[in-house]
Amino acid sequence: MIVSKCAICGGKVEERAISETVRIENDFAVVENVIAGVCVGCGERYYPPRVVDRLRDIETHAMDREKLAELHIMGRAYQISYNAPIPGISV
Ligand SMILES: [Zn+2]
Repeated sequence: MIVSKCAICGGKVEERAISETVRIENDFAVVENVIAGVCVGCGERYYPPRVVDRLRDIETHAMDREKLAELHIMGRAYQISYNAPIPGISV
């Protein structure tokens, strides 16, 4: 465990398997089963150095679909302005 006590709120930090999103230009990859420390109080995440390195490797190679057979397309990404009109809903 990288830390046992949260630096922000002082809460207990537990090791958990979480999902982490990495962004590659305008694409995103959700990385499952990332083992990280998570504060039970505020949710702050703490990553061991090897996990940071691994996420960086995935970020670097995630779009190399010919080599990464386990990269699955799971949805779409959209961009919208905060003030974009929504039919039937007044701002
Ligand atoms: Zn905390």
